[in-house]
Amino acid sequence: MLWQVGPLKSFSGPWASWARWSTWIASVGCRRRWRQSGVTTERRGHGPWHAEGGQPDLELRPRRQDWSTKGPARGPLQRRLMSQQIPVDPDARADGPLGSDGTHEVGGDLAYQRHAIVNVIYYGRPGAGDRGWVLIDAGVMGSKAAIIKAAEKRFGTGARPSAIVLTHGHFDHVGVVEDLAREWQVPVWAHPLEHPYLNGSAAYPPPDPTVGGGLVARLSPLFPRAPVDVSDHLKSLPEDGSVPPMPGWRWIHTPGHSVGQVALWREADRTLIAADAFVTTAQESAYAVAVQEPELHGPPMYFTVDWDAARRSVQALAGLEPELAITGHGRPLHGSALRKALHTLARDFDIVAVPKQGHYVEEPAKAEDGSAYRRS
Ligand SMILES: [Zn+2]
Ligand SMILES: [Zn+2]
Repeated sequence: MLWQVGPLKSFSGPWASWARWSTWIASVGCRRRWRQSGVTTERRGHGPWHAEGGQPDLELRPRRQDWSTKGPARGPLQRRLMSQQIPVDPDARADGPLGSDGTHEVGGDLAYQRHAIVNVIYYGRPGAGDRGWVLIDAGVMGSKAAIIKAAEKRFGTGARPSAIVLTHGHFDHVGVVEDLAREWQVPVWAHPLEHPYLNGSAAYPPPDPTVGGGLVARLSPLFPRAPVDVSDHLKSLPEDGSVPPMPGWRWIHTPGHSVGQVALWREADRTLIAADAFVTTAQESAYAVAVQEPELHGPPMYFTVDWDAARRSVQALAGLEPELAITGHGRPLHGSALRKALHTLARDFDIVAVPKQGHYVEEPAKAEDGSAYRRS
């Protein structure tokens, strides 16, 4: 792994994880600034919600105490929700220990691997062989070697996937998709509304660091948002809801976090790949991202551009009554504790998920009027 070098290797536990993560996020910022120095410009003009100058402070827990003006009640339950989002019984964790292939097994044909701040998912039976499996999302910059290594250990030497399915095109889900699509010569499936971010034609709207929640949100203006270009490989998920490389699955449009985000759903065992429609860690907080305590949260706030749509997406996913959910960030959860927390999130979404303030709370970015696509 990119960050498993040098003296940090001898540390373990959440603080070492946080340190490795911080090193990575700093490198993202540095690389972005280097690119802006002359090669390309990943961010264009930003609004008055741009991060304030100076050093961001490091929080120990997500800070939500100042959200008390939102929502009707202000009792102990609401304060608990605001400070921790939706707590989930640790027994709801659905992932196994880290395996020899570098992934966490989540049932017979699903495994996930955490790359710095985000998960990639491997779908297919171990030993499935060349073209016998599917990669879901494509990690962050620098993930390529680790993804290929894990895939070869899990599915067989030289085993390429039959396809890459992207839940959406944020930088932490498409970090190495260009390299992998070229090397593996595979189709890349995504929702048509996400295609402008994947064929080089439009950037995402700027992240909103004023939503609060922690260090990651404050640093979000450093995150790349320019499109990748996999147009030679790009395919549209079909209107009938099927996922061609994954028989038995269907895709569910879950806009809000991004306009073309999809979740993947297998009815037979009620397995949900939820993308970032909801997540199981406070993605805005560096500490929570490192510790990964099981909690249920709305979508990462700094990237979410339409909160009404995001609410409807969570309500739709809660209505599926999933038995297992693998999210883009945080650990997979399962069972009745997952369903209970998900229904609570759907019911209290405006209190626990929607930030008190934020550019897109007031002015959502949408596909219909083009405001979700920033073209040069
Ligand atoms: Zn995202
Ligand atoms: Zn994400």
